[in-house]
Formats: sequence, C-alpha cells, structure tokens
Amino acid sequence: MPNSVTTRFAPSPTGYLHVGHIQAAAFARDAARAAGGRFLLRIEDIDPVRCRPQYTPAIEEDLRWLGLEWDGPVRVQSAHLEEYRAVLEELAGRGLLYPCFCTRAEIAREIAASGGAPHGPDGPLYPGTCRRLSPTEREARIAAGDAYALRLDMGAACACTGPLTRHERGKGRLACHPEAFGDVVLARKDIPASYHLCVTHDDALQSVTLVTRAVDLEPAADLHRLLQALMNWPEPDYAHHPLLLGPDGKRLAKRDGAATIRQMREAGETPEAVLARVLARPVS
Ligand SMILES: [Zn+2]
Repeated sequence: MPNSVTTRFAPSPTGYLHVGHIQAAAFARDAARAAGGRFLLRIEDIDPVRCRPQYTPAIEEDLRWLGLEWDGPVRVQSAHLEEYRAVLEELAGRGLLYPCFCTRAEIAREIAASGGAPHGPDGPLYPGTCRRLSPTEREARIAAGDAYALRLDMGAACACTGPLTRHERGKGRLACHPEAFGDVVLARKDIPASYHLCVTHDDALQSVTLVTRAVDLEPAADLHRLLQALMNWPEPDYAHHPLLLGPDGKRLAKRDGAATIRQMREAGETPEAVLARVLARPVS
C-alpha cells in the first residue's frame, strides 16, 4: 500500500534550522514522496523554557525556501496540551503512573548512596524512590503543594503489554527493550507532558505510518512502541537515518556553530546549492 505512507518532520522552535534539520526533513519528505504519500510538519514546542514562538514562522519560511513543502495544516503541540493530559489521566487511572517529588539533587544522592545506577538512553535510571511511597504519603505531599513529575511504572507497564517488537526498515522486526529507560518521566514538574508522550500520541493521531529520526534517537523507538501498545495506538514502521558529520568527522551539533539555513541564505546561496551540499555531506 505505497500510497498510504505518511511521514513527518517535527522540529522544536529553539532556534533557526541548521543542516541537521534539513537532512531530517529531506529524509522524511523523500520517504513520503517515493511512495506517493504525505509529508507533515509538526512543531514540538511544549518546553516553554527552550522554545521561542518566533522561530516557528522562521522554520516554515526556511523549509519553503528550500522547497521542502509539507502537506496539510501544521500541528503545533502547545495548542493541544489537553490531549496529552487526557493520555496521562488514562495511564494514571490504570495505575501505570506515579508522582515523583524528587529533585535532581535528591536523585543523584540516592543513586550515589546505593553505589550507582545503570545508565539508560536518557541518563542514569531513576532508583524508584517515589514508587515505594504509600498512597497516604503521596496524598499528603500533593496536598502540601509539593511539585511532582509523573513517572511510568516500567515494571507494571511491561507486564501489561508483554514482550514487544517493532519494524525497522531494512532490518525487519526487532525486539524492543523499553525497560532500558527505567521509570521514565512522562510529565515533568515544569512541562505538562514529555517528548516521548507527545511524539507518540501525535504520530498516532496524525496517522504517521513511517517514523523517521536520526539514529542517535533509535533507542526511544522501543519506549514509544510500549506507549503505543499501552494506549492501543497503531504501530508505525521506523526508519533511522545516519547523522551528518562535521569537517572534523564528529557529529554536527548546533553548539558547534553548525551554520543555519538562514545564514546560508543571507550569504547568497541558492536553495538548490544548500540542499545539494547538505545531502552530500558525510554521514556516520
Ligand atoms: Zn521521586
């Protein structure tokens, strides 16, 4: 069913687009176009500290300038917080979430006191301190106004779904290991929903059939597959693309001063030249 392929490019408006973004956008666009499918644009702006609304029109402008046109309306995540809250409520109602009152410092102390913690894809695993609080303790701390994040009880979640697999283009079916994330945060103290929750929800809602991402984010696909299974959302295919490398052979990052599309445009480059150069760069 080649014409049912839907992909998306989902940047966060934390600055101007740079070459890594363009590689990701072109990869998703080309995967859709090759199958006669749809290519969507989604703005992932739920983090009010990192995101700046003024970058959203700049992202659209840069994509249009490059000829990376998307289909249909742009979904802006910050306009849909109620939808993410509803997912959290459903998971909480099934006993799969718990409030975590720990500060970063408390978590670090707890890990140090227990002689270390295994590292997951997002950092050291949470030691589960607040999972062991009694319902009375939880209620008392919430009533006292203590700030809390919501964590997924990974053991309970995995017991719900049983073992899972996902489909990676070019590799076939792969076993998923969401437990590598431990009790992952699905709603932060300062942000009403996490990246993992919003991206998985939106891919399901927007009928994205092929999720494309850079290979450094591949472990997240296992966690997203778990959320899909828990919420009974459809299972997309995955295609992870290699990372662009800088002249030093290391991965390109914004902090290394990777040029923005805007700078290239202001320097008088043509969209064709920029695209050709980005797509011809060495990859890891
Ligand atoms: Zn905690």
